[in-house]
Amino acid sequence: MCFYERITFTVCGHDEKRLIRHCHFARNDPGHQCFGAWRYDREWTQGGSKCSSCVQAEQRAIRSGGSPDSHE
Ligand SMILES: [Zn+2]
Ligand SMILES: [Zn+2]
Repeated sequence: MCFYERITFTVCGHDEKRLIRHCHFARNDPGHQCFGAWRYDREWTQGGSKCSSCVQAEQRAIRSGGSPDSHE
């Protein structure tokens, strides 16, 4: 069984799933894929920052010259 943690970001309201520990099936798989059970080992709340996909979207918007809030 693989163990994950779930982080809730208060700024954007998204959840992020992060791996804590692979089971030995996933460790032995070349792509670290797991076909077995997994569960959240811990859940916590991250205040003051956005999730990584929101941060990446913001950085993409900055690179392309726009602001993340300039379009719906
Ligand atoms: Zn697993
Ligand atoms: Zn987000």
